[in-house]
Amino acid sequence: MKARVRARPAPAPKVGFVSLGCPKALVDSEHILTRLRAEGYDISPTYADADLVVVNTCGFIDSAVDESLDAIGEALHENGKVIVTGCLGAKGSVVKDAHPSVLAVTGPHATEEVMDVVHQHLPKPHDPFTDLVPAQGIKLTPKHYAYLKISEGCNHRCTFCIIPSMRGDLVSRPVGDVLQEAEHLARAGVKELLVISQDTSAYGVDVKYRTGFWKGRPVKTRMTEMVRAMSDLGVWVRLHYVYPYPHVDEVIPLMAEGKLLPYLDVPFQHASPRILKLMKRPASAENNLARIRAWREVCPDLTIRSTFIAGFPGETEAEFEELLAFLEEAELDRVGCFAYSPVEGAAANELPDPVPDEVRQERRERFMQTQEKISTRRLARKVGKEIAVLVDEVDGNRAKARSAADAPEIDGIVYVDNARWLKAGEFTQVRVTRSDEHDLFAEALNT
Ligand code: SF4
Repeated sequence: MKARVRARPAPAPKVGFVSLGCPKALVDSEHILTRLRAEGYDISPTYADADLVVVNTCGFIDSAVDESLDAIGEALHENGKVIVTGCLGAKGSVVKDAHPSVLAVTGPHATEEVMDVVHQHLPKPHDPFTDLVPAQGIKLTPKHYAYLKISEGCNHRCTFCIIPSMRGDLVSRPVGDVLQEAEHLARAGVKELLVISQDTSAYGVDVKYRTGFWKGRPVKTRMTEMVRAMSDLGVWVRLHYVYPYPHVDEVIPLMAEGKLLPYLDVPFQHASPRILKLMKRPASAENNLARIRAWREVCPDLTIRSTFIAGFPGETEAEFEELLAFLEEAELDRVGCFAYSPVEGAAANELPDPVPDEVRQERRERFMQTQEKISTRRLARKVGKEIAVLVDEVDGNRAKARSAADAPEIDGIVYVDNARWLKAGEFTQVRVTRSDEHDLFAEALNT
C-alpha cells in the first residue's frame, strides 16, 4: 500500500513595502497591507527577501518628490520589481521618466489597482488564511493609537496646494463604515483615534449629510454626529484638519463634557485677510480671533494646534507683522510654520511679487521665536497640575507619554518619572513638575 504524502504548502509570496508621506498616505498603506495579508501574502522586511516591492509615495513638495524618487531607485536597485502608488503617481509621467522600469504607477487611494498589478506579477496564494488578519486590519502605528480616515479628496482649491488635483474632490466614507472601523479598533485595544482627512469639518458635504446607520441607529454623515457616536466607544478621539466653519462650534461643548479630546487642529495658514484671499483658504472670511475666544469660553482646557505659511507671494512686511500680532493675541498652543515653497503645478506660483527666499526663511524664524515664547508661557501654567496621560513607551523608570494636548509625532511629550510600573498603551494620572518650550516633565501618581 502506498503511503500518502501530504504536500508541503508552498511558501507564501512576499511583498516588500515602503510607506512615505502624511497620515493620509499611511492609511492608504494600511489598506493595501491589510489586503495583502488577507489574501495570504507575507510582508517582507527586506528588499532582498521580497518577490516584489510596493512604494507608496508623497508628491506634496519638491523634497518629498526627491525622497520618493530615491526610494523607488533604491527598491529597483535592491529588488528590481517595483510598483509605485500614492500622490507622486498622480503627477503625470514624473515616475516613469525617472524610473522607466517600474512595473506600474497608480495614484493615491488605489488599493484595487495596486492589488491588480500585484496579482499580475505575483499570483495570489491558493489558500489565503484570511483569519490571520485581525478585524481592525494591519496598522502601522503603535497598537494603542490609530489614524482613522473619514474622507478622501477636497473641494477647495487653495492656491499653494495640489492635493485636489492629485486626490480629486471630496468623497466621504459612509458614516456606518467609519464608525464600524472605529469600533473594531477600540475593541482591538486602540486607546486613541486620530480622525484625519483633508478637511474634517466638510465631512458629508458631498453626500448632503445623508443619514447612515450604525448598530441599527440612524447617524448623519456629518462631523458632529459622527464624533458624538464615536464618543460612546470610551477611547480618546482627536480631531485633525478642522477648518473654522461656524458648525465647528457644535463640537466644543462635547469637548467641555469630556466626550471628545479638547483638541482642535485648525490650519489657519495666515491672519491677513488679503493673503488668505490670495491663498483661497476655506473660511477665510471668518473672524478667527472671536471664534477662538468663544471656543475657550466654552472649553477653557482647549488645545489649539495650527500651521502657517510665512513669505507667501505678495506678503508685505506689514502683513507678516499682522500674522505675528494674531499669534500673540490668539495664544495658540501648538504651531508649525513653513517658509513658502513653490510646489510644481500650484496656482500660487503665478502670483506677482514673490518674496525672496532669504526673507521667507527669516520670517519663518521670527515667527517660530515668537511662538516659542507663547508655548513656553502656556506650558508653564500646567506646572503643579494633575493631568491624565497615555503612555507611549517606558524605559526603566522613565516613560514618554502624551496628554490630551499632544498628538503623536507632531506635538510635545510628557516625560514621566517614577514610571517603572507603567505600560505602553495605558492611561495614568501624573503631576506636572516642570515645563520647557515644548514638553512637560511629570511624576507618576498611583504607582
Ligand atoms: S483645504 Fe486647501 S490645503 Fe487643504 S487639501 Fe484642500 S486645497 Fe489643499
